[in-house]
Amino acid sequence: MSIKADLHMHTTFSDGLLSPYELVKKCKQHGLSVIAITDHDSVDAFHDAIEYGKEFCGEVIPGVELSAMVDDKDVHILGYFVNYTNKRLLEYLQFFRMERVKRAERIVAKLNSINVPITIEAVMERAGKGAVGRPHIASAMVDEGHIRNYQEAFEKFIGNGGPAFEKKFHVTPDEAIKLISSSGGLSFLAHPGRFTSDDAVTQLIQCGLDGIEVIHPSHTPTHSAHYRGVVGEYFLLESGGSDFHGGKKNDDDVLGNYYIDETKVNMMKHRLFSQNLSH
Ligand code: AMP
Ligand code: ZN
Ligand code: FE
Ligand code: FE
Repeated sequence: MSIKADLHMHTTFSDGLLSPYELVKKCKQHGLSVIAITDHDSVDAFHDAIEYGKEFCGEVIPGVELSAMVDDKDVHILGYFVNYTNKRLLEYLQFFRMERVKRAERIVAKLNSINVPITIEAVMERAGKGAVGRPHIASAMVDEGHIRNYQEAFEKFIGNGGPAFEKKFHVTPDEAIKLISSSGGLSFLAHPGRFTSDDAVTQLIQCGLDGIEVIHPSHTPTHSAHYRGVVGEYFLLESGGSDFHGGKKNDDDVLGNYYIDETKVNMMKHRLFSQNLSH
């Protein structure tokens, strides 16, 4: 049987619900042999890697998911094989997480002004030691009875362009891609089928993107075929994964069903190896 590699997942170090330890245990049960943990603006999951490595006999690739702006729209850039002890990377991530707290405060203030009385404390309690994001705000809103379900928070209030929406700190794709490469990693455009225009994809490729996430739960077969074509056209690498966040968002069934095979992971390693030789 071929190896299943799922290169997109979140833990409690961002908006996932499982700890890295719980996550690797679940991945093992779902037949995954290679995974990348890609928390938003955090690599802190890797500081326990030795402990959970005992549980998981496969490979855990150190990753991260950064946000950047292209044409005033948020794009997500995955970094794989980053050096999670790189001082500059850690300083940047800490800065991005602080900016996330300020943004959460702005969103809460907007919600309060339109009669949704949630507190920043309730949001931060859900984020714990992880990077705070809109999912924590949504779950505070649900738990405190202001809306019926998680999805409604995005549809009515905090989704892009909604009445309580706030942008993130402005990072250019060039900055995000350079931060990943200077930390020894490869950069991939995450889930382009969700909101990213072809023009934005081209701009990112010009910034030095290494690859594209072709397989993702939000992608239709048409999306995957399209982005596989772009990968071929520009000699890029292909990635894929489940974007697993944990049971609450009903994404339990995505684990084990969105993956790439070993050949694609080996191609990434070859690219890294030849990059290191040329430096
Ligand atoms: P943030 O990093 O704070 O902008 O939050 C982004 C996260 O919120 C994404 O990774 C998704 O998990 C979730 N999200 C964003 N938009 C939606 C939406 N329209 N519906 C449900 N979840 C969403
Ligand atoms: Zn997320
Ligand atoms: Fe994302
Ligand atoms: Fe993600």
